[in-house]
Amino acid sequence: MADTVHCGIHGDTAETFACTHLMGEATGLGFNREAPTGDNPFPDAWCDNCELIRAAHGTWDDTPDDLVTIRLLCSGCCERARIRNERPTTTLANLAHLRWKCSSCDEWHEGPCLDFGYSEPHYWRRELEASSKSGTFLTDDYCAIRGEHYFVRGLLHLPIIGTGESFRWGVWGSLSRENFEKLRTMSDDDAAELPPMFSWLSTQLPDYPDTLSLKMYAYPQFHNQRPHFRLEETDHPLTQEYHHGTTPERVRELMRRLLPEVDFDD
Ligand SMILES: [Zn+2]
Ligand SMILES: [Zn+2]
Ligand SMILES: [Zn+2]
Repeated sequence: MADTVHCGIHGDTAETFACTHLMGEATGLGFNREAPTGDNPFPDAWCDNCELIRAAHGTWDDTPDDLVTIRLLCSGCCERARIRNERPTTTLANLAHLRWKCSSCDEWHEGPCLDFGYSEPHYWRRELEASSKSGTFLTDDYCAIRGEHYFVRGLLHLPIIGTGESFRWGVWGSLSRENFEKLRTMSDDDAAELPPMFSWLSTQLPDYPDTLSLKMYAYPQFHNQRPHFRLEETDHPLTQEYHHGTTPERVRELMRRLLPEVDFDD
């Protein structure tokens, strides 16, 4: 069992060691390590510059300590460092020239499209609009069906490999009636202090196996921002992308599939 370290963000996690360049918010520095194994799931990691120094000396043992500083890091933070610093073949910069027609405003925009959203939960039906049943309504942020099912719209942030940015799915999640009422009635600054709320993903996303009923938590936000959802990690590709990052190539593919028009003239 690896030794553990306490991290303010990730809690108690396995220890790992990384060069100091990979700490903080750096992006695109490269990420080197030996392949993780069952015995050593969190091997030491270092950036491309440190790799040049190591390679010049042959091995770590022959590399003077003052040239490369390795420090203790939480394995959760090390995974974030990997996502920010790995260099994918297609970078976000490669998508900068793409022109695409926006489904929200009908204008042409340039650059990667990093937001796709849904205006109602999967379970909403057009017929419900005309329903006079109490306890049924749909707004930009909230939905209730027959006073039995409650949903809130929020965001799933998928970190993009090689960057500090994320791709955002605007999706719906279920809530208990109690949490739903709290979110709707409390001032947002008070709501933002609430503990995370249990939720089932209630949007069927394209290009994934069934995404309905993935387990997650809604984190209310300050300043009237939509809640952020945190997906529980499973082997589902969406939860893998949530925890381990998605690629600019994948962003390009989603743009191709989901936008009304994209100019791929490259
Ligand atoms: Zn380094
Ligand atoms: Zn951490
Ligand atoms: Zn637009």
